[in-house]
Amino acid sequence: MMKKSILAVLVLLIYSCGKQTKSNDQKQEIITNQEIQVNSNDVTSKPSQESGIINYSENSHVALKSINIGDCQWTEGFWADKFNVAKNVMVPYMGEVLCGDVGHALNNFKIAAGEKEGDHKGMKWHDGDFYKFMEAKAYVYAQTKDQKLLDELDEYIRIIGKAQEEDGYLQTQIQLEPKVNRYQNRRYHEMYNTGHLLTSACIHHRVTGKTNFLNIAVKHADYLYEIFMPEDENYGRFGFNQTQIMGLVELYRTVGDKKYLKLAEKFINNRGKYKVEETPSTKGYPIGDMVQEFIPLRKSKEAVGHAVLALYYYAGAADVYAETGEKALIDALDGLWENVTQKKMYVTGALGQAHYGASTNRQMIEEGFIDEYMMPNMTAYNETCANICNSMFSKRMLDIHGESKYADIMELVVYNSGLSGISLEGKDYYYANPLRVIDGSRDYSKMNTEFPIRQPYLNCFCCPPNLVRTICKLSGWAYSKSENGITVNLYGGNTLSTTLLDGSKIELIQKTDYPWEGEVNISIAKCKEEAFDIKLRIPDWTQGAQIFINGKDAKVDVSAGNFAVINRNWSEGDILTLNMPMDVTFIEGHTRIEEVRNQVALKRGPIVYCLESPDLPKNTKIVDVYLKSNASIKPEFKPDFLEGVTTLDTEVLLRKNSNEKSMYSKVEKPVFESYKAQLVPYYSWSNRGQAEMSVWLPIIWE
Ligand SMILES: [Zn+2]
Repeated sequence: MMKKSILAVLVLLIYSCGKQTKSNDQKQEIITNQEIQVNSNDVTSKPSQESGIINYSENSHVALKSINIGDCQWTEGFWADKFNVAKNVMVPYMGEVLCGDVGHALNNFKIAAGEKEGDHKGMKWHDGDFYKFMEAKAYVYAQTKDQKLLDELDEYIRIIGKAQEEDGYLQTQIQLEPKVNRYQNRRYHEMYNTGHLLTSACIHHRVTGKTNFLNIAVKHADYLYEIFMPEDENYGRFGFNQTQIMGLVELYRTVGDKKYLKLAEKFINNRGKYKVEETPSTKGYPIGDMVQEFIPLRKSKEAVGHAVLALYYYAGAADVYAETGEKALIDALDGLWENVTQKKMYVTGALGQAHYGASTNRQMIEEGFIDEYMMPNMTAYNETCANICNSMFSKRMLDIHGESKYADIMELVVYNSGLSGISLEGKDYYYANPLRVIDGSRDYSKMNTEFPIRQPYLNCFCCPPNLVRTICKLSGWAYSKSENGITVNLYGGNTLSTTLLDGSKIELIQKTDYPWEGEVNISIAKCKEEAFDIKLRIPDWTQGAQIFINGKDAKVDVSAGNFAVINRNWSEGDILTLNMPMDVTFIEGHTRIEEVRNQVALKRGPIVYCLESPDLPKNTKIVDVYLKSNASIKPEFKPDFLEGVTTLDTEVLLRKNSNEKSMYSKVEKPVFESYKAQLVPYYSWSNRGQAEMSVWLPIIWE
């Protein structure tokens, strides 16, 4: 036993020393910018996590490292089903839309490439949305090795390469608009498109080994470096929707050229450095807190402004920290993550309380954060992208700190406010994800992104490909590699075939009906002889979870909100069982959240429930429904309902004489009628026609 432990330490030491001898500068010499030589056969089999969604292979400031894309495959159950919908419907349908005349995204590149006549159509960030779609396709290819997907990607890349200017610039919204100059105004979203280009190209390279897309990204990033690295106040305030920070760090991780990391860091340093005043380059959008430029990031204590902008920015800063290890940066990010998740987040994991509003510094904001604990339900904006960004930021914080509370947020988002952005069929989308919808209460004609029912196409198309790429890549988030073992971040039927950080092979088979049932069985199909850790995330909502090894109590600390660490000499055939009781729980909000006073939300496992009008008598208003505290709540799995969900069946009370006449009126004791209703998972709402819906319901305690 002792010998094996010493051997394991030695192996780890040798491994670590080997890693340290290859400095980034040396790596730069090996890989020059324009001639990226990669052996395509090696890419997906590298033991050093270079093909993860995030490549931490050279990095020492994270506790957890990525498995390679494709190492984990969903086999059966919830995520396997969702991945199959993504593979068979979401991605092909999105391809039809974006490559055809409705979406017009590929057309924009074709016109810029001189292969088609016409004008730019779509939002200024449409190029970025197309890159996200390409990223989704690359993830599907990683799982299926379907040559057709690769060929289609190659054709897009050929067109995009032809559209790219000689000097590396690539933004069809500017190239096809003669009246606007490059980097003239930040609202043209050049940074956003850039970021998605860089990220998508890195992912494409990791899963295919090809460099055709990566070369375009490098050429573009080199141009960006020339423009934005010199000190310049105008360009210094240019960062807007800053996905380029994540993209630049990932490009640095891919090709090893430190200048991309320096530029990423500069975009963070620039924020809050200059006087906040309107200039020609900021005109047309709110300034200051809206774009997180009022207070420098390292001094920020409160999440402000546009929620998507904020969370992409924080996620990018987490990437920079992961490479630099700068304490001031992680201290600020720790505070911001707490502020977001403890004071400004909905019970569904959604972010962005208001479409229009003001920050606490009294600056105008759109689609974002307002005061702490101010959580309107009906008018909540909660853009699907913001919710996804919450999980992206939390994933990076999980990697950095290795604490399960971050994975709890990832899980909360993906099961609830993430999935709610797309229909079960996979073709209709929501941009905003409110927690309550009441017929006739909102004038949708005044809104550009909120709709009473899901839409097959959104003019502002940022959310659909963002969500679809997340569903496609989720298996890459399911596990991480720890110092001497593996962590299980997300549960779902899957197989894992990867290597631990010491290079030893490990294969796991996970079987579970999660999230509908709380039993998870993980069998060890292959592993090293020496002892190593398997860390199971014990979700923060669990009570009384238990762990067994081959049917016997594992006798380890199993506390909610932590990773349970099981260190032992594992053998092939061992079965690790996690049992999480799936009780239905009433959730209440903090006393400062006025909007949910005397109401509760129902939750079972990670799933947040809602009540929807198809499950009520005709003409019942959702605001007239009350829960009874002492009514039994029966979870029932219905395989043929809403693609297979567990509903919560319970007796509710319908109020008969509610006030709809005057703003305020004298109230008598209400008259109630009893009704047997079912609550459905929040993500599955609005799949049965236009409906009213509420997550929070008033409760009568008896
Ligand atoms: Zn969006």
